[in-house]
Formats: sequence, C-alpha cells, structure tokens
Amino acid sequence: MTLFWHRRDLRISDNAGLYRALKAGDPVQPIFIFDRNILDKLPNKADVRVEFIQRSVAELAQAYRAYGSDLRAYYGKPVEIFRQLRDELRPTAVYTNRDYEPYAIARDLAVKELLDEHDIPFRHFKDHVIFESDEVQKKAGGAYTVYSPYMRRWRATLETRMSRHENEPVSFYLKPYPTEKYAANLLQEPSPHPVPTLAEMGFEPTAIEIPPREAPEEVIEHYDKTRDFPGTEGTSRISHHLRHGTVSIRAKVRRAMKLNDTFVKELIWRDFYSNILQEFPWVVDRSYRSEYDNIPWINDEEQFAAWCEGRTGVPIVDAGMRQLNAIGWMHNRVRMITASYLTKHLLIDWRWGEGYFADKLLDYELASNNGGWQWAAGSGVDAQPYFRIFNYESQQRKFDKDYRYVKRWVPEYGTENYPARPIVEHKFGRERALRVYKEALREARNA
Ligand SMILES: Cc1cc2nc3c(=O)[nH]c(=O)nc-3n(C[C@H](O)[C@H](O)[C@H](O)COP(=O)(O)OP(=O)(O)OC[C@H]3O[C@@H](n4cnc5c(N)ncnc54)[C@H](O)[C@@H]3O)c2cc1C
Repeated sequence: MTLFWHRRDLRISDNAGLYRALKAGDPVQPIFIFDRNILDKLPNKADVRVEFIQRSVAELAQAYRAYGSDLRAYYGKPVEIFRQLRDELRPTAVYTNRDYEPYAIARDLAVKELLDEHDIPFRHFKDHVIFESDEVQKKAGGAYTVYSPYMRRWRATLETRMSRHENEPVSFYLKPYPTEKYAANLLQEPSPHPVPTLAEMGFEPTAIEIPPREAPEEVIEHYDKTRDFPGTEGTSRISHHLRHGTVSIRAKVRRAMKLNDTFVKELIWRDFYSNILQEFPWVVDRSYRSEYDNIPWINDEEQFAAWCEGRTGVPIVDAGMRQLNAIGWMHNRVRMITASYLTKHLLIDWRWGEGYFADKLLDYELASNNGGWQWAAGSGVDAQPYFRIFNYESQQRKFDKDYRYVKRWVPEYGTENYPARPIVEHKFGRERALRVYKEALREARNA
C-alpha cells in the first residue's frame, strides 16, 4: 500500500502528488496529521484556522468516502505517527506535496530518515505554487529579488511548454491533474481513525464566517478597479483556500487569465514570495537587507498594545486592526497601512507586527506575511524605500473617502469616545522615522 500524506492540499481534485500516487498503481491510503508541534503552541483555543482545517479535513474524508475509500486522520507529532504507520501498515511508498517552510522542511527530513531505515521511498511533488524558485531564475542564474522582472520571466516560462485542456491551448504548467480518473486505485476500506472533532483536540468553534472557495465572477472581472477600496467587497477572499490547498492554484490562475490580468499579477506575488522563502530561508527572522537589523526600534509595549487592539487614534489603522481581530482577515491596502504605521510611525520592530498577524490571520502564510512585513519596513526584497512613508491621512482620502470602512469597524469614530489625536501623529512620526532609519542605515553601511 502507498500512503498519500495531505498537508497544504486539502482536496482530491487536481492534486499533483495524489495523482502521481494513484497513477503508480498500488492501492493508495490517504492520511492527514493534526500536528501537535503546531497546535500545542497556538495561544487561543478559539482559533479560526484550526476550525477551518478541521472542517476541510472532514470534508475531504467525506469526499474519499464517496469513492468507497476513507481518510485516516491522526492527532499527534508527525515523526511519532509515521513510526507507528511504518510498523503497522508497512507502506511501500509515501507520497506528498512539497511544503517550503523551514519547519516543514525539517519535519519532512525527519520523516524521510525514518522511512529510509526501511527503504520506503518518500516522494514529493510541486503542487502549492505554479513555479518553484529554480524554475524562474535570471538568465545569468540566481533568483530574482525584484518583482517586475520576476513577473515577466514567470509569464514567459509559462509559455515555454504549451499543452491542451478542454480543447483549448493552455500552459503545461497550468494543466489540471485528473486524479478522478484513477480513483479506483484508492484503498477501499473504512478508516479506523476518523477525523477528530475540535473539542477532542481541545479547541472551540468561533463565530467567524469563512468565505467560499470561489469569488463571484464579477468581483474578479472588476478586480483592478475595486481591489484597493476596503469599504467594498472588491477582492476575492480566497487566500485561506490557497494557503490550505482547498483549491488548486492552477485552476485559479487559469480562471484569472480569462477574467482579469491584475488578478493574475497578485497570484504571481504569491509565487514570488514563496520563491524568496525557498531561496533565502533566513528572512524568517532576519531582515533581507541586513543593515535594517541595525535600526534601534523603540518597541513601546503600550503603543504596541494600542496598535493590536485598534486604539491608536488613526481611524484607518484602528479599523484594520479591529477587522483582523474580529474576522481573521484584513484588506491588503490596510495591511500595508497598518504595517507602515507600526514600523515607521511607532518604530516597532516588523517582527512584532509579523508575529501578531501570524497569530490572527486565517490566511497566515509565512512567505507572504514575511514578504509583506519586510516590504512595509523597507528591509525586504523589492521593498518600499524607507523614505517613502505612507501618509495615513492621504490613504484615507484616496481609498476610504466616505469613511465607510472606518465606520463599519470603529463605530465610535466621530463621537467623543474616539481619541481626539493619534498616539503618534503623521508629521512627527514621519520625521522621526526618517531620522532614525537614515542614521541607522548609514552607521551599518560604514561599520
Ligand atoms: C503586511 C502584510 C502581510 C500579509 N500577510 C499575508 C499572509 O499571511 N498570507 C497571505 O496569503 N497574504 C498575505 N498578504 C498579502 C495580501 O494582503 C493577502 O493575500 C490578501 O489580502 C488576501 O485577500 P484576498 O484573497 O481577497 O486577496 P486578492 O486581492 O483577491 O488576491 C488574490 C490572491 O493573490 C495572492 N496575493 C494577493 N496579494 C498578495 C501579496 N501582496 N503577496 C502575496 N500574495 C498575494 C493571495 O493568494 C490572494 O488570495 C500580506 C500583505 C501584507 C502587506
């Protein structure tokens, strides 16, 4: 029997690794592990991510049952579970899709070593991205660290291998994997390990509504005109599905190419940041531009708490943080504004903000979150230069001029219960940030 290990690919359809496992011919037993190395560290018992994953895994098990098969679900530490599986089921191979985060790489290596002891092959495939970092490289070699040339090369690479799908020409890299065709190779047995409930894992449900897998067609069609206005429903809200693979990135790119090119470009940002993490894994806790680690952050804990709780007195920042706290998602424009306010006006280390987002975002993805934060702080690849500091007042005028977004999330705005002044005002914060950044970067370069 072959084991197929689901991780960030909680679907049967168009699943690269599952397709390979099924096509290889041995009966395939799908498995999922609720990883206690991760779950035990989560600060909140009501965590919408755990709820979403649990629900998606239950749906996946149901989908397998429709084929007469079933999913074995475990709750524990992957290496220990695999030791058990290896000895109990004696699999002939383990198939999976690649995960590029440092923790996942170390975990997979440990599992591989365990399987190696019994000569069980561990086969892994690309599924989570369109291109891995070694597929989109500069002509002279090496990774792109600037988005626009990366994006052009990404598009050109797509066209290097053309194929057909539903009688239309399509890039080979976007073709779906027809897993259903080989579904007869799924092991036809009920699972002795059903999907655990949230309560069995010590978690509680939240009241958060989780957006569906597909955005309405008109949202994507008008995406380039609506995406920057947080008071409208102008973006797809599919990031959590891409994060956990409840949808296929290939299907999303194919659809985007038909509907809106700006939307395609956003999906390319996702590959870009994933590629950056693959190439430079140390960005996880260090600035990509090392001189930025010389900035003497103020790290005022009270101001940080005000930022987290949406009490800074800057309406659009407060609205964003309260949206994040309430629904586990924040509009992209406002992620940029809140991140800029934290790292520039408040001079708080980008890692603090990154960590807070990581605890709260339903779509939390290390590569994109780290990329977004380092972009805002100026310390990352292709980052906003430090001297271009977001003016939250002009951002408000441009993107939420009637205060629709602000009023939705900050109901007391405009009353005497809302602070009369921000904790750090724009002019003062901007000048201080310019001075501190300039000095720290100059010192680092001269050191
Ligand atoms: C400080 C900061 C932190 C962020 N943290 C995350 C994170 O943890 N996880 C995450 O998925 N995105 C993150 N982003 C990127 C972006 O804000 C979200 O992907 C987006 O808001 C998700 O909503 P949506 O699905 O409606 O996006 P849409 O605007 O509809 O975009 C479609 C898809 O494209 C991808 N995408 C769009 N913009 C970006 C981008 N800038 N970088 C990478 N991918 C992008 C996402 O997969 C998204 O679902 C962050 C951005 C910033 C500035």
